[in-house]
Amino acid sequence: MGKIVRAKWGKVVLMSAITTDLVEEARRIHNTNPPATAAVGRALTGLALYSMVFRESAVRRIVMQFMVEGPIGEITVETNMKGHFRAYVRNPDPAYRIKDAKLPVGEVVGNGHLYVYKYLEEGIYQSVVPLISGEIAEDIAYFVYKSEQIPSAFALGVLVDEYGRVKAAGGLWAYLEPGATEDEIKLLEERFQHIESVSKLVDAGLDNLALLNTISRNYTVVDEVSVEYRCWCSRESVAEALVSLAASDRQKLLEEDKVEIRCRYCGKTYTFTRDEIEQLFLEG
Ligand SMILES: [Zn+2]
Repeated sequence: MGKIVRAKWGKVVLMSAITTDLVEEARRIHNTNPPATAAVGRALTGLALYSMVFRESAVRRIVMQFMVEGPIGEITVETNMKGHFRAYVRNPDPAYRIKDAKLPVGEVVGNGHLYVYKYLEEGIYQSVVPLISGEIAEDIAYFVYKSEQIPSAFALGVLVDEYGRVKAAGGLWAYLEPGATEDEIKLLEERFQHIESVSKLVDAGLDNLALLNTISRNYTVVDEVSVEYRCWCSRESVAEALVSLAASDRQKLLEEDKVEIRCRYCGKTYTFTRDEIEQLFLEG
């Protein structure tokens, strides 16, 4: 189980995330190689932090989709706003070159766009920005700046062990509320510039409060929430997706004795017999 803590420090909203278990579960399900693990883990952690802003709002689901030209192809991360997160990665084993100790996230992601979808009762809000670096943290910060006009800084990190498993993952996010002074902006920029790798701090045993202390010691905790990798797919949602297929695709399904649909987020397989499919199409 991971945790996010939200705190306030003057006009600064500070958030900290420890997401080691969440990111390790994503790695286990998708069997990602180290740079893909880091890319997906940063995206999940960034979404976990960003979604805190909408906790008490009418937003029911947030999707961040990185459609990219790098060998990873696509990363999609989602939350149902109940502390549950899931991820999809098109190519879990992208080619890369080892240059130094740092995982080449920008190399496997490359150029592309970040699409963000917010689902509300009345409809879906979509925004899109080009990626700045493919390193994920800057890209999400740029999206937040363009879509919400909020200047902010993210630090997101994932550390893997010699077997490729996630040793530590976490993040920090700070943004300024209206009315912040130039001094506060400067101070925040300075503190973020001097922050060490978040994943190394998590690996060294720092908890969320200790992570926040690296930015400021004068904050007040607002709230704390748990986060975990838990898919919310169901037989009903898969059946709905089948019914909404184009007529030609539906016809193809009817030619099979049975159809197996694998959830792209958790790998769970749902089997439908031809009789069941026929029944679904009759009702749908
Ligand atoms: Zn699923």
